[in-house]
Amino acid sequence: MKTYSCETHINHALDMLVAETKEFPIMDQLSDEEKLSTKCSYCEEQATYVVSSK
Ligand SMILES: [Zn+2]
Repeated sequence: MKTYSCETHINHALDMLVAETKEFPIMDQLSDEEKLSTKCSYCEEQATYVVSSK
């Protein structure tokens, strides 16, 4: 499972992932190139982070 998130929604994204997977989430920052082509899963902002489970 993988979720993209902006600065605003990162806490929400982490909570959602933990709730769904029951595992500790891994949070990474997107590269500048990835940011341009990726949107937050919860709003229309550019994503800054990718949150994933193992
Ligand atoms: Zn957002």
